[in-house]
Amino acid sequence: MIFDEFSIKTLVRPVPDFPKPGVVFRDITPLLQSPKALRMVADSLIQRYVESDFSHVGALDARGFIIGSIIAYELNRPLILFRKKGKLPADVLAASYSTEYGEAFLEVHADSLCEGDSVLLLDDLIATGGTLVAAAQLVRRMGAQIHEAAAIIDLPELGGSRKLQDMGIPTFTLTAFE
Ligand code: AMP
Repeated sequence: MIFDEFSIKTLVRPVPDFPKPGVVFRDITPLLQSPKALRMVADSLIQRYVESDFSHVGALDARGFIIGSIIAYELNRPLILFRKKGKLPADVLAASYSTEYGEAFLEVHADSLCEGDSVLLLDDLIATGGTLVAAAQLVRRMGAQIHEAAAIIDLPELGGSRKLQDMGIPTFTLTAFE
């Protein structure tokens, strides 16, 4: 299936002033409700990574879990969850970060990765980059590397993908809203 960026973009609904005034929320639920579009997104990422030798998929709470699960299943890799504070039951490592909406904590189980592991990080969207930077810090604290940080959507004006690249983290997105 050929990736049709225009139809993917039309299935991302802009919701002004959510969750707070001034933020345009890019809602991917219409995309998730289109089997063809979801398959197009998943197939594009599978095609990109099918020959790659990363060891784990790291999925970010919460919409990153959707695409992360599909890629981990299809490429037969272990799936690691990066969750918001207080959701993981065992011993965790935590990193604080700030987003468009405020301060938050990201956590991962402390035993999820070992030195030498290489992680493909997946989320739905890169805005300020705070969430993926926090995930990358947690990966590095466990002695592992980041293969790439990937998302469906980039918001380049918020500078997140540039920040990730400046930290030496390769970044990939399927589409962008200026
Ligand atoms: P950031 O850490 O600022 O890059 O924000 C990325 C995370 O917050 C992702 O998990 C997104 O789901 C969510 N997010 C941030 N900004 C938006 C937005 N404008 N529309 C939809 N999701 C967003």
